Amino acid sequence: MGSRTTNLHLINEVSRRVELSQKRIREYEKEGFIKPLREPRTNNRLYSDFEIEQIKRINHLIHERGFTLACLRNLLVLAPCWNIFACRRPQQCQAYHNPHQPCWRVRRQNGTRCPGPCGQCAIYLNRHVAKSKVLEAVAAVPMEEP
Ligand code: SF4
Repeated sequence: MGSRTTNLHLINEVSRRVELSQKRIREYEKEGFIKPLREPRTNNRLYSDFEIEQIKRINHLIHERGFTLACLRNLLVLAPCWNIFACRRPQQCQAYHNPHQPCWRVRRQNGTRCPGPCGQCAIYLNRHVAKSKVLEAVAAVPMEEP
């Protein structure tokens, strides 16, 4: 691959590195959690190291922590990014010091420690998700009398 695509990986290599099927990786894209670049000539998906880490984290949250897709979307808009991505040194990041602003906005203004880019991050990709959807669904189910 040329210099523009250095450090970008084809889906078969990503599949091997994250130990997930190509089908599952494409499903995460379909569900709006990742957005790989496309190689202009072949239209092949190209994944950065940042996206590979995101795929691992999304898979962990769904398959090891038990989040449904709807809950995960709510988590992405409600929880701090340093918790979602288990950031090791949140205190060193501007996002941590501006918790009432979306991290992608903080990044534009002051920079953040994550490698980004935001346009390929699950948090940014899900920024328009309606926050109360899951809670409203839970509230609509009547509680049983004791
Ligand atoms: S890449 Fe952007 S959206 Fe993702 S955690 Fe960093 S600042 Fe937030």
